[in-house]
Amino acid sequence: MQQAIEINDFTVISAQATMAADTHGGRAKCLQRLIRLDMPVPRTVALPFKTVRAIANGMGPDLGAILAEFAQDALFSVRPSSQDSDWGGPSAVLNIGMNDARFTGLSDEIGTDAAALMYLRFVQSYAVNVARLDPDEFTQPIERPREALDDALRAYFAETDEVFPQDPKQQLGEVLRSMARAWEGTTAHLLRQAKGAPADAGLGLVVQEMKLGVGRGNCGSGVIMGINQTTGERMICGRFLGQSQGRDAMDADRAIYLTRDARGPSLEERHPELYAQLLAHMETSRGKLREEMEHEFTIQDGELFILDGIRVTRSARAAVNVAVALAQDKIIAREDALLRIPPNMLSELLHRQVAAGTDRNVVAKGLAASPGAAMGQITFSANEAQALAAQGEKCILVRRETAPEDIRGMNVAAGVLTERGGMTSHAAVIGRGLGLPSIVGAAGLSISARDKTLTTQDGLVLKAGDKITIDGTTGEVLVGEVTLVEPSLDGAFQTLLGWADEVRDIGVRANADTPADAQTARNFAAEGIGLCRTEHMFFDGDRLTVMREMIFADTSEDRRAALERLLPMQRDDFGQLFEIMAGLPVCIRLFDPPLHEILPSDRDGMRDLAEAMNLPLSDVIARVDQMSEFNPMLGLRGVRLGITLPEIYDMQAQAIFEATAAAHKRGHAVTPEIMLPLVSAKREVELLKIRIDAVASAVMVSSGQTFDYKLGVMVETPRAALRAGDIAQHSAFLSFGTNDLTQMTYGLSRDDAGRFMSTYVQQQVFAEDPFQYFDEEGVGELVQIGADRGRATAKDVVLSICGEHGGSAPAMAFARAQGFDYVSCSPFRVPVARLIAAQLAL
Ligand code: PEP
Ligand code: MG
Repeated sequence: MQQAIEINDFTVISAQATMAADTHGGRAKCLQRLIRLDMPVPRTVALPFKTVRAIANGMGPDLGAILAEFAQDALFSVRPSSQDSDWGGPSAVLNIGMNDARFTGLSDEIGTDAAALMYLRFVQSYAVNVARLDPDEFTQPIERPREALDDALRAYFAETDEVFPQDPKQQLGEVLRSMARAWEGTTAHLLRQAKGAPADAGLGLVVQEMKLGVGRGNCGSGVIMGINQTTGERMICGRFLGQSQGRDAMDADRAIYLTRDARGPSLEERHPELYAQLLAHMETSRGKLREEMEHEFTIQDGELFILDGIRVTRSARAAVNVAVALAQDKIIAREDALLRIPPNMLSELLHRQVAAGTDRNVVAKGLAASPGAAMGQITFSANEAQALAAQGEKCILVRRETAPEDIRGMNVAAGVLTERGGMTSHAAVIGRGLGLPSIVGAAGLSISARDKTLTTQDGLVLKAGDKITIDGTTGEVLVGEVTLVEPSLDGAFQTLLGWADEVRDIGVRANADTPADAQTARNFAAEGIGLCRTEHMFFDGDRLTVMREMIFADTSEDRRAALERLLPMQRDDFGQLFEIMAGLPVCIRLFDPPLHEILPSDRDGMRDLAEAMNLPLSDVIARVDQMSEFNPMLGLRGVRLGITLPEIYDMQAQAIFEATAAAHKRGHAVTPEIMLPLVSAKREVELLKIRIDAVASAVMVSSGQTFDYKLGVMVETPRAALRAGDIAQHSAFLSFGTNDLTQMTYGLSRDDAGRFMSTYVQQQVFAEDPFQYFDEEGVGELVQIGADRGRATAKDVVLSICGEHGGSAPAMAFARAQGFDYVSCSPFRVPVARLIAAQLAL
């Protein structure tokens, strides 16, 4: 009995009816609000999600009871009403109730042609959407409506062996059933889940009495919205078409503009009184629904009806502009404006994007490692990329994976595509740092640098010079060139982020390695540099060679000679960072080069090095062999290098302090932060602290300047987290490096995990790739232990996260809940992180 009531549940929409978006869908709820605002909405019945679900399962509702709510010979439309209009839904069906008898009656009222067109529209949409007949059979030309109708009715009979259904009750029942089932189809599920709908998202349906839009007097239909969907600028957009129904006006050549327009006739000129009514309704809906709405309207014999309202679909740029304008007009609070923008949407504004509506010829997919779209010729080496750039050609650097030598190519390429690697691979980290659109781990591709070919999973072979587009926002590789939309950081973007800064309560710094990164970080209002990976300062041409000479040196003297050449470069680097950051904190991490990222990996690289060092190639090969490690990520890295070859960190400390002294001399107070990587024991910190203090004292004496500095530790080994209590005794700050901490907590190589991660995620071993999504359960527990133990011995120790997770919402929520001071993320992520932080605080 209970079930019968639920199945038959429907609601005549009225000001008093009980209904909500999460039971009846957004369209139904909006119609109720329009009715409450006294807008002229035709009589409408709403079927809630549970009724529609029952219909899909072959049950209810009582169609007679629904029809009894309407006038005797009314016609109906049925439209979808999902909770969020972005989740889509089946197409609307109009003119339900049309049959031979009604056609005859209407022919007298509005003329045969108009009645025939209405009947034809219904037969065509019923045949295709409900009876699922071949659409090609139902494209009758409408020049002679009466004949077209007869043809369509004949085609229906020929395809089904049945005459077109005449009973309105049967028609309505079949339309409802087919729409309910369409929502349950696999494709519909996938499409809406891609837009963020939950797996069990429901569909409501609204059955509305038709206002015909055709017939005697002034009749027609149109669509109106109050903004430009691309820019968000306030202006009346839309079209009107006389003697039409539904959304016909949107794609008919004969449709006219709504507002007076130099390009052609407008509703404003032809029917000023109707236009004025429409404008008044638009103002009301913006003010009272607190949103930019799109309304379908119909004019029936001079009378205006508003058929529905949905949020205007809009670009990221328009979304920001609208939210800010609504708040500035005091229609919504600033807090609402901040909450209305999904933070990731901001990254669409920071980079070029593939234009909406582009026909995407996708040939491969990888990890969306660094957002933005780029097009160019395929090139397989950094040298070629440089040569192309010198000719002003755009290129996409395609590599199996990238190595330090590729930096030169990455600097000039429009984008990067790799076959291997995960979200923290070299290509991904550098790509994000440079703001360079990047796709990594496109495992379906096979790259042959020798043959200069790129073969897709489907066997398509692309050659050097062929044009491709990479979409680093989605991870898709497209063949050929497409239209891209330029980034836009207009006033509304800055205003919104200014409001975010007023409410957020966790700091946002940037991971910046070079002056260019630092400048980007400043432009995006980062509160300092949270991680400067100093080894990245040497990934460039000549410097890489000097760095390699230093690492290669056999004797202390040779090493010192190389270090002496590195010292001025570093001093200059740090000087520039201090200058750009103008007094904001700069946290410099001492060298942490996993040796395989520094040593040449191929014969060409070894030959270059042999030349530079004036050594026989065989010596270089032997030395690389001797230095190569089985597991470089767990080898002679970070602080271990600093302990075993102390001259290196001495040189860096000297460069930092000399740059600090020089800044002081110019009257700019700088307190550098020096961070030790890959620490696992307190003694490592003690040993290095003694040396670094000594270097500081020496520079103070030689420069005649006094200055402070802070020494801190990067907590990125599990042992450092467990022993954070000891370590914090000597540390002004602890910064959690969640890349290595994830790698070591899972015992999962960050460079190799990409090969099997998708299987692991598919089989739900891991809910998500932990290098992409912060693992709060496991890695998070270690972070928490580290933070608690660190604070227990040093209550004011500054805490932060600087791994790639740092700017993600889950890691930020976690860091904030633990009372951390700041997160640090790639410069282009800074605006997104500022908004996430604000939303967390609201
Ligand atoms: C980390 O390990 O989280 C980190 C930030 O350092 P890197 O990625 O340079 O190893
Ligand atoms: Mg690390």
